[in-house]
Amino acid sequence: MILVLFGSIVRAAELRLFDTHIHYSHDAWEQYPPQDAVDILRQAGLSKAFVSSSPDDGTQRLYRLAPDLVVPVLRPYLKRGELHSWVDDPTILTMLAERLSTNRYAGIGEFHVSGADADKPAVRGLVDLARTHGLFLHAHADADAIVRIFNHDPAARVLWAHAGFEERARIEVMLETYPELRVDLSFRFEHVSGGAVTPAWRKTFLRFPERFTIGTDTYTPSRWLDVGDYLTWIRGWLADLPEPVRSNIAFRNAERLLESNPDAM
Ligand SMILES: [Zn+2]
Repeated sequence: MILVLFGSIVRAAELRLFDTHIHYSHDAWEQYPPQDAVDILRQAGLSKAFVSSSPDDGTQRLYRLAPDLVVPVLRPYLKRGELHSWVDDPTILTMLAERLSTNRYAGIGEFHVSGADADKPAVRGLVDLARTHGLFLHAHADADAIVRIFNHDPAARVLWAHAGFEERARIEVMLETYPELRVDLSFRFEHVSGGAVTPAWRKTFLRFPERFTIGTDTYTPSRWLDVGDYLTWIRGWLADLPEPVRSNIAFRNAERLLESNPDAM
């Protein structure tokens, strides 16, 4: 009993975390039923999570169980294998419009696009839907595609998944150029060395304290097994940053992105 109580005190004192990159796609449903998935997120100490799934039903299942924790984001895929084909399938816009008229979402994504594909009708249509509904975009895209998205809608608010795996110097230029661009650090590891933030990345975080968020990216079922350990690793390197940068990256920047929706959920 004392141990349980002690455990809850430790948990309460832990840094709040808002995970901006969770998927609950069809291939995870059998292994991790909705209640198990919610339990994993809660046990990892998350206060909130952006959840998007292929298909969207996965997100809705988790949202019904945990509306305080799950913030739905609408993915344009019905199955996991549509990462590359969706840009040539404008009928996806009909599915998105139907979902948007039925359910509430904070954003549209995570979607994958690179280079000139970002000018294709399906992608422009998706960006237009986000603008119409006042939602942010969660884009897994190279810098070139991000530029094209902002050319199409200069007022877009974009959460850049993994910063497109671009290099730090390029990320800085992009952040400087586009004030409404934020970076989700999921699946990035090079900013940490020996558990501490590297000097170069520390400079970047201090220069852009309100632009980075954390995320796990449960893109395959096996990633659900790692959520707790991965977030423990994140808490470790966040502890190496000064306040308020630490809290900004841990949860506040994601909360601000959410609050910047005109009809905030
Ligand atoms: Zn992802």
